[in-house]
Amino acid sequence: MHVPLLDLNAQLDEIRDEVKIAIDEVVESTRYIMGPKVTEFEREIADYCNVEHGIGVSSGTDALLVSLMALDVGPGDIVITTDYSFFASAGVIARLHATPVFLDIDPKTYNLDPEQLETWLKENEDKIDKVKAIIPVHLFGQCADMKPIIKTARKYDIPVIEDAAQAIGARYPNNGNPLKAGSMGKMGCFSFFPSKNLGGMGDGGMVVTRDDQLAEKLRKLRNHGAAPKYYHSMVGGNFRLDPIQAAVLSVKLQYLDEWHQKRQENAEYYKKNLNLDALTTPENAYRPEYHIYNQFIISVKGDREELKTFLRKKQIGFGVYYPVPFHKQECFEYLGYQDGDFPKSEYAAEHTLALPIYPELSVEMQDYIIDALHEFFE
Ligand SMILES: *Cc1c(COP(=O)(O)O)cnc(C)c1O
Repeated sequence: MHVPLLDLNAQLDEIRDEVKIAIDEVVESTRYIMGPKVTEFEREIADYCNVEHGIGVSSGTDALLVSLMALDVGPGDIVITTDYSFFASAGVIARLHATPVFLDIDPKTYNLDPEQLETWLKENEDKIDKVKAIIPVHLFGQCADMKPIIKTARKYDIPVIEDAAQAIGARYPNNGNPLKAGSMGKMGCFSFFPSKNLGGMGDGGMVVTRDDQLAEKLRKLRNHGAAPKYYHSMVGGNFRLDPIQAAVLSVKLQYLDEWHQKRQENAEYYKKNLNLDALTTPENAYRPEYHIYNQFIISVKGDREELKTFLRKKQIGFGVYYPVPFHKQECFEYLGYQDGDFPKSEYAAEHTLALPIYPELSVEMQDYIIDALHEFFE
């Protein structure tokens, strides 16, 4: 048997006709920049997240970039984020010539540890007026612990930008009225990269916000800071969402909660059948249905390299997210971090591995993977 890490063919089989009709509508309309498909999809995402505004952009990276631009982040400023995420969470800070500050993670969820945040801010009182944003990341599809993060951010009056690229539809407990990922901070950023739970057929992203003024500024910034056309009150860029992507994503959004549910079922099946001392399965910090499992991450106590070789031999797809934490990246050497600065993040980078979790994964395939892992560890 061969099991890929992700199988977009299986998803396409379910929606092929609908998607082709939606694309064809854009083709025939000749509205190739912005237009009604983008506006419609922005409304749908805003509603899905229970917020006022959605601003479609060209990628998840650009969603983060334009959010920082909306807060006027620039040289000399500090932006705090997690040490352990996809590169974009940190790259956007450096691109604006601001200084990224990395913090260690909670090893149970792989997300920014709120206590580290509180401690850093307490110990760096002299720098607080330079801190322009905090970017928690909802890694692998589970929300960071937002209540203490937002409480601390409020105390110091620092805006929070959620990197929800992997977590559209993930929820966070709130007295029986759970909040959606992206709706808790000043701004929330999504990516529609094809491997995300809501993936386009190319690049795409979105910023969501409840703030009317920020929304207006974001809309300008994504289009060279122009409003009206050719009149520039600020310098933005071309960060527009492609209407063909918007059309595809509108179709897929209708299936999203169903797909999440299948991922959650697959996760529970793995957890039930992977009771091995040599590995740990993901922990649900909240209710199991609040985690959307963009990735199913196991942490192996022993040597990960041997397991990788074994999985390759068994033709089981896997991923390593991410092999190098930010503070060890060559491009961030100038920040002066040392090996050992963030032990939890370093441990995760060395010991974790993602297994196939996509909605169309069959029981037979999952059993094959489970049996293989038992064989390897026993
Ligand atoms: C995918 C991802 C991004 C970037 O999204 P793109 O659409 O690929 O630019 C940012 N942050 C995280 C955590 C991601 O997983």
